[in-house]
Amino acid sequence: MHPAIPHLIELQRVDHQIALLRADLESFPKRLREADTRLTGARGEVAAAKDVLAKSNAERKKFEFEAQEWKDRARKYRDQSGAVKTNEAYRALQHEIANAEAEVAKAEDRQLEVMMKAEEVERRVKLAESRLKEAEQSLAAEKKTIEAQAAETKKQLEAATAEHEKTIAPVPEDLRDLYARIAKRHNGTAMALVRDDQCRGCGLRVLPHIVQELRSETSEEVYRCESCGLILYTLEPIPYAKTADGSANAASPASTT
Ligand SMILES: [Zn+2]
Repeated sequence: MHPAIPHLIELQRVDHQIALLRADLESFPKRLREADTRLTGARGEVAAAKDVLAKSNAERKKFEFEAQEWKDRARKYRDQSGAVKTNEAYRALQHEIANAEAEVAKAEDRQLEVMMKAEEVERRVKLAESRLKEAEQSLAAEKKTIEAQAAETKKQLEAATAEHEKTIAPVPEDLRDLYARIAKRHNGTAMALVRDDQCRGCGLRVLPHIVQELRSETSEEVYRCESCGLILYTLEPIPYAKTADGSANAASPASTT
């Protein structure tokens, strides 16, 4: 294979890492926004509970006012009753007084009902407020975590970018361009491993003489897959190195018996 291929293999590894780190970094603002959304829900609950409480207070005041009005009326009738001349007029006033007192009782009952309900609503407000506080605290902690993760990812990205520069330095200009062009077309991937005589980029069979060339240390050629166009490389042991030693040079564990 071409002597720059090992650098390109490493470059590919670094570039994939860079792509992952970038995607990761891009996800942080969304994660922060999502965390904020949860707070919006808790704030909404507080607002809704307070709204119910305000309505309940308004209702209580209305019944309070009504009760006072009927009390005033009853007092006025009682004041008048001392001055009436006929039994008939007196009875009519007594009737009005009884009616006004009944209305007072009714308004006071309603007032009591509303006040009892208001206690429940006040509890709801307090609960919603404590939930909001909890949500705010956990959000602050979560934001801190997310920001720390983002800072760490940024650092890793800077390191990977520096590694990219270092790795690409020994690669000739034309090969850099080729690599960049192919990577751009293939979602960041420019290299394809050949294993079992197959391009791992697309599955196409690679011709035996090309596999042979890829394994040869003396070859200066760059080979690309005929189908997907990725730059081919192999990690398999170089066969002629083995045959130069005679047979397989690895110690056989089977010989222990
Ligand atoms: Zn291919």
